[in-house]
Amino acid sequence: MIFIDSEGEPIQEFSAIYVRDNVIVDVFHQYVKYPFLKTLDEDHFARSHIHGLDIDFLEQYGLDNTDVLYSFFSSWLKKHSVTHLFAHAPSKEKNFLQLPIQDVHLKPWRERHVLSSHRNSFFMKMTSIPICNVSCNAHTAFHGWYPKRKANKLNATDIVKTEFGHHCSLYDCVECFLFMKES
Ligand SMILES: [Zn+2]
Repeated sequence: MIFIDSEGEPIQEFSAIYVRDNVIVDVFHQYVKYPFLKTLDEDHFARSHIHGLDIDFLEQYGLDNTDVLYSFFSSWLKKHSVTHLFAHAPSKEKNFLQLPIQDVHLKPWRERHVLSSHRNSFFMKMTSIPICNVSCNAHTAFHGWYPKRKANKLNATDIVKTEFGHHCSLYDCVECFLFMKES
């Protein structure tokens, strides 16, 4: 089984984990250079309040564009000859890869945050635990989660999301895997 996830619109971080016999045995993790000038940052809300990917980091370590990412990922996928891809709500990823991806349907946030899959992947993210020698610390532009809609008061779901911190595609893949394991 392969679990995938991405962050950013357009995609700026893309991860996949390959699971064999219930163990993560390989990881694909790449960044893409942010394609807009910093002064025209159309992803600025997400950069501050959702994924927090740092433009300078992407500039230094990112692939040139999503075509290069596509080609790298396709090669990685061929290596494992796996046909079953899984992700949570994968509309963006389906569109990018043009492949069937099964939705793992993580629980709504208010139910999700008490699950051990969520707790464990959260801990791994916050302590940057390496997954097959890969960890991620590209999210230094994160300034705290905040709802994009206008809100005078945070609702219960918002509060759970606030506690979750930044979104990282690597550890979100791990959460999907752990969730399927415990379901
Ligand atoms: Zn990350």
